[in-house]
Formats: sequence, C-alpha cells, structure tokens
Amino acid sequence: MTSLAARIAAVVAVVVGLGAAGGAALGVLEVRGDVDLLPIGSPTQDADGVPEETAEAPSGTDSPTPGEPGTTEQTEPTETPERREERERRKPLAGRVVVLDPGHQLGNSRFPREIGAPVDAGGFEKPCNTTGTSTDGGYAEATFVWEVALRVRRLLERDGARVLLTRDSNSEDEWGPCVDDRGRAGNPDEPGPTADVKLSIHADGTYADGARGFHVIAPGRVEGYTDDIGAESLDLAVALRDRLVAGGFVVSTYTAEDGLDVRTDLGTLNLSDVPTAMVELGNMRDPAEAEVMTSEQGQRQYARALARGLVTYLR
Ligand SMILES: [Zn+2]
Repeated sequence: MTSLAARIAAVVAVVVGLGAAGGAALGVLEVRGDVDLLPIGSPTQDADGVPEETAEAPSGTDSPTPGEPGTTEQTEPTETPERREERERRKPLAGRVVVLDPGHQLGNSRFPREIGAPVDAGGFEKPCNTTGTSTDGGYAEATFVWEVALRVRRLLERDGARVLLTRDSNSEDEWGPCVDDRGRAGNPDEPGPTADVKLSIHADGTYADGARGFHVIAPGRVEGYTDDIGAESLDLAVALRDRLVAGGFVVSTYTAEDGLDVRTDLGTLNLSDVPTAMVELGNMRDPAEAEVMTSEQGQRQYARALARGLVTYLR
C-alpha cells in the first residue's frame, strides 16, 4: 500500500492535469469535488451517489437544525436566492484546505492481519486501525462517517474550500489507511497541500445504560508531537462542540465533560502537525441515535453542524 502522502501527491498531479474537467459544475451553485478524493485502490463511485445539498429546504419538524450549512451569520433560513448567489460567489473559504478523516474502512474486518499490524501512534505503537462499530441493525460506523464526510466536503467546497479525504472509498474490499497515515495527512512536510484544519469523524458503540450523545476529542499534550497544535486544536474542538449543540445534538451522557474530551492515546491526533480534533458523533448502539444516524436527514444535520464548526474555526 502506498503512503497517504504519495497518494495526495498523485491527486495533486491529477488535479493539475484534469483541471475543470474533473470538477465539472453540476449547476450554478454546485461544484463537484471528485478530483480531491485521494485515489486509494479502485476508482470511487461514491461521490455521485450523494443527494445534492443545494436544494435543502428549511428543516422540518423533526429536524434540530434550521438554516443553511457551512456558513454562519449571513445564511439565515430566510436567505434569498440572490443573497445566496452572492455568498457563493464570494467563496469565503477560498484558499483554505481541509482534511476530513472518515474513521475506519468498511472492509477492515476482513483484513485482520493488516489492521492489526502495529504502527507509530505518537511515540508508542498501536494497531494500524480497528473495525469500528455499528448499529444493532448492522449499519457500519465506516459507512455512517463516510456519508457524513462527503456531505461536509460538499458544504465546504461550496464555500470555496479545498477538501481532501483520507480514504477514497467505502468498500468491503478495502482496508485502512492506518492511524499513522490518517494522523499525518495534511501535515506541512507531507507531499500535497498543507491542511488548515483536519477533522476525524467517528461514532461510538457502547451498551452502557442510557449512553448517548456526542463528544469531541482534542489532542492532549504529547511532548514533541502535539505541543505545537494543542491550543488551536482545543479552539477547534470547542467550535465543533458548540455547533453540534446549536444543531440540537446532545452532549455525551457517558464520557467526556460537557461534550469535550482531551486524549493523548490517539495516533490520529498525536501525529497531526495541523490543528485537529476528532468527533464521536453519538452512540450507534442507542436505538434513537441509530435512527438519526442511519437517516439522510440525520446525516445532513450532522454534516451541517460539523461544517459550521469548521467554518467558525477557520474564520
Ligand atoms: Zn471509530
């Protein structure tokens, strides 16, 4: 398996080569971001399967998040088409680079040897990756975070950001990347664009009584690793937490404090040299949260909140 860095470099070459052809506009307000998918393994067919985000109506009665995604004050639910066009013309995130890390690969469980191989996690070793969790109905964390990441990417790209993913498929036949590659993605000394911010997206799975809600994890201080990104990463984590709360999501009832945790045992965070945080969007084993996580509406709400948190941080 080639390194993630090499893949990013390859994508940059592809982007330069393909130019507009790879990112053909679907409409005035819509830009596809296919070219910024990292080409790991087989060609991706996933990006086109995601429902468009542009036609989002204000939320229905069951929806906690009214308004438009990826932006804040100037995008109230009452935004007119003209104002929206103006906002999108201005592209407030132009020039910004965001790395999204959808945790785990769907096929991880089929590659126990590869997934179990030890890698550097920031001065100590951990297994390359894990299988992730799922709902009781069998909907995989890998799939959930993949869908949410694609939506976040679309929202940020609409505001002009360049968005890179750490995997380019959600496939039973693929595994990885390992946490060290995920952690280093977007670092300044890696080939390819340096990220302004990196977000790792996960969901939890616990049968603990009454366990539900999200939490955001910021990197704790690991000398020589995270000491340079700690403060900004905490700002990011707070912004994400606040936007998730504003979006109607409840903070974790079973871990973290007021939706915020700080950890030093996660390679994905420890190896980052750019501000980063990890979100555990909820407990997939909780039936009510599982219902939200498996619905398009719920995934849209999560994505909006995350995009807003990233925008808040980047401003
Ligand atoms: Zn996970």
